[in-house]
Amino acid sequence: MADHSKPPKHSNSLTYWIAGAIVAAIAVALLFPNVAVHFDIGGELFLRALKMIVVPLVFTSVMCGVLGLGDVRRLGKPGAAAVGYYLCTTVLAVIVGLIVVNVVRPGVGTINKEQLEKFATAEEMPDQVLRRTLAAESGLSEDAVASVFTDLPADNDEAPSTNVILKNLALMLVTDNLFGAAVETQLLPIIVFTICFGALLTTMPDETRTIATFVSEANHALLSFVMALMKIAPIGIFCLVTARFGKAQADGRFFEELGQIGWYFAAVLIGLAIHAFVVLPLIFWIVRRENPFRFAAAMSQALLTAFSTASSSATLPVTLECAESAGIPKRSTEFVIPLGATINMDGTALYEAAAAIFIAQAIGNDLTIGQQAIVAVTATLAAIGAAGIPEAGLVTMLIVLGAVGLPLEYIGLILAVDWLLDRFRTTVNVFGDSVGAAVVGVTIPEDAPSAS
Ligand code: ASP
Repeated sequence: MADHSKPPKHSNSLTYWIAGAIVAAIAVALLFPNVAVHFDIGGELFLRALKMIVVPLVFTSVMCGVLGLGDVRRLGKPGAAAVGYYLCTTVLAVIVGLIVVNVVRPGVGTINKEQLEKFATAEEMPDQVLRRTLAAESGLSEDAVASVFTDLPADNDEAPSTNVILKNLALMLVTDNLFGAAVETQLLPIIVFTICFGALLTTMPDETRTIATFVSEANHALLSFVMALMKIAPIGIFCLVTARFGKAQADGRFFEELGQIGWYFAAVLIGLAIHAFVVLPLIFWIVRRENPFRFAAAMSQALLTAFSTASSSATLPVTLECAESAGIPKRSTEFVIPLGATINMDGTALYEAAAAIFIAQAIGNDLTIGQQAIVAVTATLAAIGAAGIPEAGLVTMLIVLGAVGLPLEYIGLILAVDWLLDRFRTTVNVFGDSVGAAVVGVTIPEDAPSAS
């Protein structure tokens, strides 16, 4: 077996190249915004290349993870540990978000009346317009955004029951068309199917051998593809970041609105920083007794890719590759990381809770402790339900606003700056997934046979 204790030699210089590309991209975007926007094609090509391998890689990786455990009964403990860990850290993130936003109180007195009135009436931002805006911002289809709306009460006076949200989450677990799910990159039902199928195979040892070899070789080849792709990552990432920052600089709205809601922006960043630099490292250290920051450094290529793509799904191949180089046992990374990229979104949960309270503060509707508890529960569920794509959290936040009866139109208050916050929360999401794999790894016995 290869020695995974040390990252491959090239990895440090590549990290510097990627970090340098991000800094250079921001400088180019701010200085020459009109040129910068034309780099979008390069960014899109890189993004497509990453996304292209997500579905096959999730399938082979999760399958290797399950087959590697050797016996379906061995899946119980790490499986429950992964889901339990992810749920607990998401709740912790929400609590951090709520504390920060209640201490900083970014919504109080910072928004002027004119600004508020812009979003005050449903006539000015009717559902239809809101849907279109959210679809454009998130890149989701209007139908996908509309499906979030259907679950919200039409007059917005009563909260959608947690039942409805839970029912939808349950439906997300199983698809009626595996290929359809693959086409739409819906990873959750693919993971559920792969776990069940893999678990079944472990009860049929003879058939498993051939399939296991095939899947493991395919997995290996796909990861080599990721490594090759990472060689051009500095260029792809430069293009992605230049084009997006250039767009914000060119339309000017970003800095104007950031000036108005700067405290909200700062509050979410403070919350994310506390979660990423205190909460997660502490958990990592308590469980593994190793330096969490050295681990973060080993994951840096994935973290920088997350920042640049704003998508945990698109980053997934890089996360898997880095986690292995960082010395996390394959038997853990293989199924824990894909699961995390799909259901574990600490950054998104923290942001959804903080943003909802900010909106309540801004419109002078201070939420009671009971209402904040509802925000906490729905933010957790909304984050689990959010896809790992750019600004998915903005769309599922409608669930949180609806749950405490806040007018959905006020989402307009945070729209213009969301693309940048999204990059920070996606980075925290990916870090949370990696720490999860490291922590859950200790629950898997060393002697578990590996499929790969
Ligand atoms: N962009 C985030 C992710 O991919 C989701 C979100 O918060 O919008 O992890």
